[in-house]
Amino acid sequence: MTGLHVPEPRTVGVRARSAASTRRRNPIPTGVIAVVQYVDTHCHLDHHQDLSVAAQVERARAAGVTTMVTVGTDMASSTQAVATARRFDGVWAAVGVHPNDAMEATPSVLEVIERLAKEDVTVAVGETGLDRYRDHTTPQQQEASFRAHIELAKRHDRALVIHCRDAWPDCLAILEDQGPPERVVMHCFSGDVEVVERCARAGWFMSFAGNVTFHNAAPLREAAAAVPLGLLLTETDSPFLTPHPHRGKPNDPSYVSFALRTLAEVQGREPEDVAEAVLRNAQRAFAFPNVGAA
Ligand SMILES: [Zn+2]
Ligand SMILES: [Zn+2]
Repeated sequence: MTGLHVPEPRTVGVRARSAASTRRRNPIPTGVIAVVQYVDTHCHLDHHQDLSVAAQVERARAAGVTTMVTVGTDMASSTQAVATARRFDGVWAAVGVHPNDAMEATPSVLEVIERLAKEDVTVAVGETGLDRYRDHTTPQQQEASFRAHIELAKRHDRALVIHCRDAWPDCLAILEDQGPPERVVMHCFSGDVEVVERCARAGWFMSFAGNVTFHNAAPLREAAAAVPLGLLLTETDSPFLTPHPHRGKPNDPSYVSFALRTLAEVQGREPEDVAEAVLRNAQRAFAFPNVGAA
């Protein structure tokens, strides 16, 4: 599926079998070698201004990122996402029309999105949802497009990737009213603890991006601390939302470990354990064919 050499995931740490407290006191623990694999469940590989897709994939693999979902935001970028997923092992596609482009989600465009959703490299429909932070499109256009995407995900048994900004009550109400698909991922999660609890009750995955590392993101970290480990996911939303301490530079999937480390910290767990859980969760959320089989 790709001409690229697939390296073994890099050994990124040494794992001690000793107690967590010992590990914390000793920054260079001795013990068994662990291979940590990271997952970037939401990136836009085709939007990067400086790095080619191949260069991003290579950097990601060198950093232990073995699985990526590249996300389309309109018809052209969704078509591109599928082509990119075909080219690179470990890269999968999500296809949809972003809420900020919801006026473009006409029946003929949705027909193309549906065709792309059926491709074997496509693991999700989206990103779709509601964005009240920007008003490029009306609430009615966003809602109609959101409902159409929910139906597509159900019809083709794909994960539904939701973008929700400043619209949690409406977003959850529409999802419940339309009837959610089996697998739902709240991408770039921005809700509070109450939203976490509601998503957890429904069994929806919550994916955190680089903004969870920002100095001013204490409320988001408080929400992240409340997410059950079995529903936690990591992403970069690259090339946007570059994590601390790289803010100001373009983001790419190789940086996904920064969000993961912050999540481990707020959850009081070892990064390796969170990485393992995220890998398992991503498999459940996206049902990647043959992930980790290489
Ligand atoms: Zn988004
Ligand atoms: Zn995105």
